[in-house]
Amino acid sequence: MTASPEIITTVRDLRARVTGWRRAGETVGMVPTMGFLHDGHMSLVRNSRAQNDHTIVSIFVNPKQFDRASDLEAYPRDMDRDAAMLAAAGVDAIWSPEPDEMYPAGFATSVDVAGLTDCLCGATRSGHFAGVAVVVTKLLLQCLPDHAYFGRKDYQQLMVVRRMVADLNIPVEIRGINTVREPDGLAMSSRNWHLTETEREVAPQLFAILTDIAEVAGRGEDVRPTIDKGRKRLEHAGFGDVDYLEVRDAENLELSHRPKRPARAFAAVYLGKARLIDNVPVDTPG
Ligand code: AMP
Repeated sequence: MTASPEIITTVRDLRARVTGWRRAGETVGMVPTMGFLHDGHMSLVRNSRAQNDHTIVSIFVNPKQFDRASDLEAYPRDMDRDAAMLAAAGVDAIWSPEPDEMYPAGFATSVDVAGLTDCLCGATRSGHFAGVAVVVTKLLLQCLPDHAYFGRKDYQQLMVVRRMVADLNIPVEIRGINTVREPDGLAMSSRNWHLTETEREVAPQLFAILTDIAEVAGRGEDVRPTIDKGRKRLEHAGFGDVDYLEVRDAENLELSHRPKRPARAFAAVYLGKARLIDNVPVDTPG
């Protein structure tokens, strides 16, 4: 039988646990999550397990990165199920602080990553990346792992975290992991549970449309006509508001209609109550 991972709830206990491992010369991988785990998260866990002596998964639904209280309340949670999945995967510990432990009374510090946070999700979700930046900074400094794992599913977040870790000399290596998809192409997400049966059927079209846009960009053609067509296809399929559907440079995230450097096609679209985000790489002409 696999031992259940220890659930750690205070910074003091977390530090004690990790310090013991580091003193013994053992490496530590960290996987930050908001819980309600799926195979996308578990892929990060598998990478960490393969590359480190110990793996800590944090489960913390970060109030600071939600711009609407209703969205925070509606975020799915199931610690028992998560703990069972992490036990089966051989994770050593779960770092699961209460909001008061993370943000004690009087908490006043913010972390602002300029530039990269202006576009894509930063343009429509005010305060989102400020919330992400401060919580990831805290998670990394609380745990001080050797490596921390983030999904390319949230590509802009990965870029913001990389920038911040470099700028602040946080001594942790950030590793990006490819998006895990359902067999029909839909990127796995804790938010997919919001989809009705009919919405779930049309949801994979987002990936199909992004793939078509990325293919056109990869041929060195102007992507704008395909993006216009993509918007119509989304509307026709029953999607709601489109926050963005665009191709951007993979490093500086600047708009790129005919990319010559590594780029990605990005989308954020509403489908019923769910806001789906996804992105796919463009195979740029050599
Ligand atoms: P979340 O719990 O949604 O905050 O996600 C925690 C981590 O898992 C983030 O680094 C995400 O990018 C990553 N992640 C979420 N969904 C996927 C997926 N389908 N494939 C790979 N990584 C993912």
